[in-house]
Amino acid sequence: MRILIISDIHANLTALETVLKDAGSVEAIWCLGDLVGYGPDPNECIARVREQPNLICMLGNHDAAVLRQIDIDTFNLEARLAIYWTQKTLTQESITFLQKLPETKIWDHVVLAHGSPRQPVWEYLLDTRTATLNFDYFETPYCFVGHSHLPVMYHLPDESRIARLFVPEASLQLTMAPRAIFNPGSVGQPRDRDPRAAYAIYDPDQNIWEYRRVTYDIAAVQARMFAVDLPERHIQRLSAGW
Ligand code: ZN
Repeated sequence: MRILIISDIHANLTALETVLKDAGSVEAIWCLGDLVGYGPDPNECIARVREQPNLICMLGNHDAAVLRQIDIDTFNLEARLAIYWTQKTLTQESITFLQKLPETKIWDHVVLAHGSPRQPVWEYLLDTRTATLNFDYFETPYCFVGHSHLPVMYHLPDESRIARLFVPEASLQLTMAPRAIFNPGSVGQPRDRDPRAAYAIYDPDQNIWEYRRVTYDIAAVQARMFAVDLPERHIQRLSAGW
């Protein structure tokens, strides 16, 4: 069984379409949140994701922010401007879809969340210390998160030590990792200095996690952002991948 794992699409339809095509045929799609925010295509991305087969989709902090479920004072100015634009632009149908998204979900051996198992919508897993604490907040072998926009894996190579691994492109046989937290990276706004869209394929039958990257038409997205007057800094960062 091939499951497409995507996260942090951030209203970037060109990146999303490219990933869907590159992934080929899959039996299910799991999206780890942040469908909207930053990019120019929030309604289009929601429509495309919601029609996917066997979809599981989590609530991200930008999704919660456009729904006014969290205080956006913690967002920086440009991120706030993008949230305001998204609030103006979303259709009622899109809002209704976002309102139904859960914060966590358990599927067999995996727990899913946007940020972390401890604080599903907000917490960033950026270091081994935070990741170590979070291993106490889920019981399944695996946890899949997004939010940091970094393709990374935290695992337990032995009983006492959590290790962090940045994995730009690789296929991992998971028998090597009895418990692990995976992040597929970001579809629509990668932040590891590689501007290509990031995603993963998870095969629970073969116990394989595969990190993948794909080039998409960044200029087309930047032109659409420019046309609707989204912040310059968000337009620029797509080309550099940060
Ligand atoms: Zn995000």
